[in-house]
Amino acid sequence: MPDFRSDTVTRPSHAMKEAMFHAALGDDVFNDDPTTLALQDYAAKMLGFDAALFAPSGTQTNLIALMSHCQRGDEAIVGQQWHTYKWEGGGMAVLGSIQPQPLALQDNGTLALQDIQDAIKPDDPHFARTRLIVIENTVGGKVLPLSYMQQVAALAKANNLQCHIDGARLFNAAVALAPNHQLSPQAMARALCQGYDSVSICLSKGLGAPVGSLLLGSADFIQRARRIRKMLGGGMRQTGVITAAGLYALQHNIERLAEDHANARLLAEGLQALSQQGRFAGQLRVLPVQTNILFTELPLALADALQHFLAQHQVQLTASNYANASSQFKRMRWVCHLDISRGDIEQTLDLLARFAHSEA
Ligand SMILES: *Cc1c(COP(=O)(O)O)cnc(C)c1O
Repeated sequence: MPDFRSDTVTRPSHAMKEAMFHAALGDDVFNDDPTTLALQDYAAKMLGFDAALFAPSGTQTNLIALMSHCQRGDEAIVGQQWHTYKWEGGGMAVLGSIQPQPLALQDNGTLALQDIQDAIKPDDPHFARTRLIVIENTVGGKVLPLSYMQQVAALAKANNLQCHIDGARLFNAAVALAPNHQLSPQAMARALCQGYDSVSICLSKGLGAPVGSLLLGSADFIQRARRIRKMLGGGMRQTGVITAAGLYALQHNIERLAEDHANARLLAEGLQALSQQGRFAGQLRVLPVQTNILFTELPLALADALQHFLAQHQVQLTASNYANASSQFKRMRWVCHLDISRGDIEQTLDLLARFAHSEA
C-alpha cells in the first residue's frame, strides 16, 4: 500500500540499478569519476550554468551554496518556512556564521518584493552585511511563477546581491509551468534559473534516485563550492555508483512528474467529494494542490482516528498539529511520487470512503 510520507521514499527501478551496476568509476575527490563528471556536465548544460557539483544531500548543497556566497557576518534573506532556514538544523548560522533574515511568506508561497527590499540593510556597522537572497521553488508544493522568479533576480542584481534557488523540487515547478509557456520541462527549468547565481536540485526526491543533490553555478563559484564540500565531509570517492542513478533520473524521470501531479489532483478531487459525506461532512478541508503535494485538515480527534485506520491498512503519511483562533486541527501531508500509481490512489480513496461511512 502507498507510502505518502515523502517523495524521498522512492526506490531505484531495475533500469536505474542497471545504470548503477555498469557505471564507469573514478575518484571524485580527484575530480576524475567519469560518471559524476558526466552528470554534472549534463545538468549544467540543461539548466544553463557553467558548472555543477554533486553532494550527498540537498541540505549540504544548500549549505555549500550559502557558505560559498557569504562570509562570516554576512546575511541571507530567507522565508520563515524555507528549508534553508527552518529544516536544516540552523546550519547556516552554526557552521557558516551567516545570519538568516527570515521574512513571512505570502499565501502563494512568495516573499513580497517590498519585504525583500525593506530587509536589505544599509552599509552601517550596526548591521550584518546583506549578501544573498534565497528563494525556494516549489515551496510546500506551491509553484512560484516565472515572472516572480525574474523579479527577484532583478531585485538582487539592482541591489548588488547574490541570489540562490533552493530547487529541491525545481522540476516539479518546471513541469507544472511548462505548458503555459509552451516550453519543454527542461527549457522551463532553465528559464526559472536564469539570472540566479546558483541553484540546488534534489535527485533523490520525485526524480527517483536513491541519493544525492546537485549545486549549479559559475565555474568560479563551483570551485569555491568544491573546497567547502570537502570541508563539510561531502567529498566522496567512487560516486559514479550513485551518480549513475542521478544521470538516469535526469534523462528519464522529469516528464513523468506530470503523472504525480495528476495523481495528487485525483486524490484531492476524491477527498473533496468525500468532504460532504459521513464522518467527514463539514470537518474535512482539502487545500488547493498545484504539484505533487496535497494537504488536508481535520479536527484532532478525527485526524487521529483516520491516521490509525490508514495505518492498519499500511497507508503511511505525515501529519502535524496546527491551531487557529477557533480550533485545533491536524494537517496531513500526502506526497505523490513514482512509486505511487493511479491504482494506489483509487485504492486509497476506497479506504477513505470506507472510513467516512464507518461508525465513530
Ligand atoms: C528535501 C529538501 C531539501 C534537501 O533535503 P535533503 O533531505 O537534505 O536532501 C532542501 N530543500 C527543500 C525545499 C527540500 O524539500
